[in-house]
Amino acid sequence: MQAMAGPPPKPWPTGLAEQVEPLVKRVLAPNPSPYTYTGTQTYVVGAGSDVAVIDPGPNDEAHIAAIMAAIGEAKVTAIMCTHTHRDHSPAAAPLAETKGAPVVGCAPLVLESDLPRADEAFDTTYAPDRVLEDGEAMTGEGWTLRAVATPGHTSNHLCFALEESGALFTGDHVMGWSTSVVIPPDGDMGDYLASLEKLMRRNDKVYHSAHGDAITKPQQLVRGMIGHRRQRENQIIRLLGEAARPVSEFIPAMYKGLDERLIPAAEMSVTAHLIDLEKRGLVAQEGETWRTI
Ligand SMILES: [Zn+2]
Repeated sequence: MQAMAGPPPKPWPTGLAEQVEPLVKRVLAPNPSPYTYTGTQTYVVGAGSDVAVIDPGPNDEAHIAAIMAAIGEAKVTAIMCTHTHRDHSPAAAPLAETKGAPVVGCAPLVLESDLPRADEAFDTTYAPDRVLEDGEAMTGEGWTLRAVATPGHTSNHLCFALEESGALFTGDHVMGWSTSVVIPPDGDMGDYLASLEKLMRRNDKVYHSAHGDAITKPQQLVRGMIGHRRQRENQIIRLLGEAARPVSEFIPAMYKGLDERLIPAAEMSVTAHLIDLEKRGLVAQEGETWRTI
């Protein structure tokens, strides 16, 4: 993690539909936490007879009511999830039932193990009607949303590109307030970096992420994030050059002044880097201890 800014002063716009661009409304869910910033942001895309809902969020009655108000009389053509962390997809099923709409987007997640993973967990009830592959699109009146596969934060993560405006809905892959948490075994640092490089090759004008403000200089931010991860990687290699050590002994040197509640996530993130370095043949693990090769 790399916290970039503290949360803005309250009140936060929970329960309201904010018009962030002509085709896009944003609704903030009431689930703030150290992992979700001010909460999950749901997007309603479309200004005509039908809309898509991106990342419906937690299954919270007040939040679903606010999404319904933002939808108004429009038909819901697709409920689209970027990934299946619990703060993103659980409202998909109740919303689908109420609006008679299909759930379309990321694949359900198959986990072989369920190791402790800080406070993030997966929505095991997520059952899409249709999974979008990289490059596949959903369309409605005046909008086209194309899937951009961006594994890393989770293996099933998709971004959605709104072709009419040049916006990219980035979910948790790139956020305005912090770098993404990559938690093994499902989170993969090598994939995450490749997915950041993939965004560098695109020309999106603005990112709307699930947490935090719109990102108006996307390329600059992504370049900074790639640099930040490379810096973390170099720190890890340097620390291992001084002495072999377990994951917990990286944290004080690497995350000065970290909120205590985020220590487990920081340890997971270091582990994700170590696994990536191990795959690349640069480090090895013996029991709890990591060393350079
Ligand atoms: Zn997530």
